[in-house]
Amino acid sequence: MESAHPLEPGRAEMLRQGRLVLDRLADFVDRLPDRPANSLSPSFGSPELRKLVDELSAPPPEHGVDLAELLGKMDRAVDAALETAGPGYFAYIPGGGLYSSALATFYTHVVNRYGSVAATAPALTALEESVLRWIAQDVCGLPAGSGGLLTTGGSMANLSAIVAARHDRLGEQISDGTVYVSAYAHHSVAKAARIAGIAGQRIRVVPHTPDLRMDVAAASEMIAADRAAGLRPFLVVASAGTTDTGTIDPLPETAALAQDEGLWFHVDAAYGGFFRLTERGRRRLTGMELADSVTLDPHKTLFLPFGTGALVVRDPARLAAAHGGTGDYLQDLGELELPDYAHLGPELSHEVRGLRVWLPLHLHGVAAFTAALDEKLDLTERVYAALRRMPHLEVPWPPDLTTVAFRVRAADRATADRATRELLARVNASNRVYLSSTVVDGRQTLRVTVVAHRSHESQVDEAIALIARG
Ligand SMILES: *Cc1c(COP(=O)(O)O)cnc(C)c1O
Repeated sequence: MESAHPLEPGRAEMLRQGRLVLDRLADFVDRLPDRPANSLSPSFGSPELRKLVDELSAPPPEHGVDLAELLGKMDRAVDAALETAGPGYFAYIPGGGLYSSALATFYTHVVNRYGSVAATAPALTALEESVLRWIAQDVCGLPAGSGGLLTTGGSMANLSAIVAARHDRLGEQISDGTVYVSAYAHHSVAKAARIAGIAGQRIRVVPHTPDLRMDVAAASEMIAADRAAGLRPFLVVASAGTTDTGTIDPLPETAALAQDEGLWFHVDAAYGGFFRLTERGRRRLTGMELADSVTLDPHKTLFLPFGTGALVVRDPARLAAAHGGTGDYLQDLGELELPDYAHLGPELSHEVRGLRVWLPLHLHGVAAFTAALDEKLDLTERVYAALRRMPHLEVPWPPDLTTVAFRVRAADRATADRATRELLARVNASNRVYLSSTVVDGRQTLRVTVVAHRSHESQVDEAIALIARG
């Protein structure tokens, strides 16, 4: 078993190790429907958890330990968690953990090609570019010539979008630039703006209409007031599916405002973007094709494992202008008619990210993803209709995407807030499904988000029954 170089297992040992991992993972996936929705309960701070954390935080040993033993430790760490890969996970915006994408990641890391500069593996870059072109043009409807880059998630995509907008519209003088975001924009937008050097007081939160959408007329007035005060409005960010309620801002109206005012128009579609694969989604997300840039999260609505986001832009040259940079040590890497991803974002060395999106899309076909997203839309309608029939609940907003937001009805706000939190605790105590909450218009609000690819009718019905019992 031991080879002369311990860091280079021979073929037989590689296969043995790989099988050991695959067997465990197959068992893990088989058991997902029966695993507890939350193995951390009853409390995050329990003595058992503390003991486990202490035990697993030991420094590495001088001499290696058997793989099976180490996998046992990893399993115990995995078990103390929310079951984010399971079918009962309806909290936050679920990811997936699509197996075929995980295989592509494993493959990518073993062949270890350099994903940052096209000249080092041009055909792999072409393959990644084909995925980005598909996202930009086929999914988002951006014109020919559009493209972008894969990131580690939506936050990084929002950051690169804001850096590009700032560079394109403000140049070097950034202190007077102002940004307009909707009240329920994801916090990563304001965070990215701050990281990009935009002071907090230059980030304008636009009020919302009663249906929780950006009030575009109010945005227009804020822009006028800022211009009158000598400031330089440069960017408006719309949400194509807020994280709180899945609400889609008025995209065509926001695009028109941006056009009239000469602002960069960014759409944060980390949650909603891929619903454009469906007929209903395309209708509801009309206007996205007018954006200068769009953030999407394949690790949400393409069901991929965490770690893959995407930024697509109308004009990749503007992204490159903002992120370009090189060093003498890169002088041997020539120019190709392919993007150097290192020059479109902040990172230099990284793996080829495209395979983990390309392989699932080609292996399963786009129709499989469209059907899965359509199923999630159907399941959401089912949840919405069922909760609307429950007299103890208030379900104020028909879902734009796959999130149903609701509260317990009560005579006054304080009682409603308390009862709503109690309902959340009771539902989650079942350990069959896991929901999360937010605050909308200052009121405690629960949410069911149906996104995980393993969630089907039976889990949704289980969630409905648990909420009804509340
Ligand atoms: C999840 C989310 C983000 C952040 O993306 P990460 O992948 O978690 O970094 C941004 N915007 C929206 C609307 C999201 O739902």
